[in-house]
Amino acid sequence: MTKKILILPGDGIGQEIIGEAVKLIKHLQTHYDLQVETEEALIGGTAYDATGKPLPKETLELAKQADAVLLGAVGGYQWEELDIAVRPEKGLLGLRAGLGLFANLRPAILYPQLADASTLKPEVVAGLDIMIVRELTGGIYFGQPRGIRELENGEQEGFNTLVYKESEIQRIANVAFDIARKRDSRVCSVDKANVLECTELWRNTVMGLHERNQDIELSHMYVDNAAMQLVRDPKQFDVMVTTNMFGDILSDAAAMLTGSIGMLPSASLNESGQGMYEPIHGSAPDIAGQNIANPLATLLSVAMMLRYSLDESELADKIEQAVSDVLDDGLRTADIYSDGMQKVSTTEMGAAVIDKL
Ligand code: NAD
Repeated sequence: MTKKILILPGDGIGQEIIGEAVKLIKHLQTHYDLQVETEEALIGGTAYDATGKPLPKETLELAKQADAVLLGAVGGYQWEELDIAVRPEKGLLGLRAGLGLFANLRPAILYPQLADASTLKPEVVAGLDIMIVRELTGGIYFGQPRGIRELENGEQEGFNTLVYKESEIQRIANVAFDIARKRDSRVCSVDKANVLECTELWRNTVMGLHERNQDIELSHMYVDNAAMQLVRDPKQFDVMVTTNMFGDILSDAAAMLTGSIGMLPSASLNESGQGMYEPIHGSAPDIAGQNIANPLATLLSVAMMLRYSLDESELADKIEQAVSDVLDDGLRTADIYSDGMQKVSTTEMGAAVIDKL
């Protein structure tokens, strides 16, 4: 049956990297008989400029009808002064909430060809393969009440609420246990149970669920220690599961271990397996429009989409192999460039991956 993909380029380099992904999808349709229909819609600052909203109703409706959503990135300097309710990032948060995408899977894999691109010693990171499972629709980013209020003495006070229900913790922990089962069967749950009651409940709930997942080795770590261990000895981890905010921060740190956030894809899934796929980086306004952004994270997001939402694991494997082959050939965008390699543009890198297919 023909599956539907909604394509949301968004802002900044989003336009350029999604351009390469669209060429890849067209290639798969023509040469591998991939049965998909694609449609494009607005999100982020571009959507705000056109409609006054970072997530137009039409975009959310199309996303709900799609089997998978492929997103570039949102945000940019020109929208930073807008009211927080209509900033580009709200479009993304609204989409995640609207689709119920509670599980964010962020692999941090170091391609051996790029071991030198990491700021850590090659022996510390070579062969790194971590999966960070981040809760995406709860926690402090969504908790109520929130805001900035004025106190009686005229001083302003900002406040947010960290809140998790047992059921929210259980469903994300279940995803982590399931993924670990297909990998090295180890889960490290990250919390701050010594200070935050909400994450004390997190730890107790994960421990409770573990009783039914005894084939998985479970450990717990406070988030400050986890941040330190990620830099000291990242290969000790297999699957890490954590809250929305801790996952946001730790997954960016893990990403940097691999040398470039331009290399890392992500998947966000809901309970019915519908998914949104996007590179983990932002809209990189500092390099937008220059044809120098790394498109590989986005092409690898297409691979994740094929695997998790479109039931096309073989094609996913082919894309991942093509990316590895292109790196073997010494092709590098500026962010992963090192001496002796061949520096290429966004479009040249995209074309090289398609050539390898
Ligand atoms: P960023 O990820 O956009 O950029 C951080 C640094 O990495 C920049 O120097 C950038 O040039 C570089 N970079 C990022 N992607 C790259 C790629 N594919 N190739 C080469 N270099 C790349 O993060 P930021 O600078 O903190 O944020 C910029 C904007 O993006 C902000 O408006 C922010 O809110 C937004 N943002 C969006 C998302 C998203 O859409 N998922 C995620 C993070 C940040």
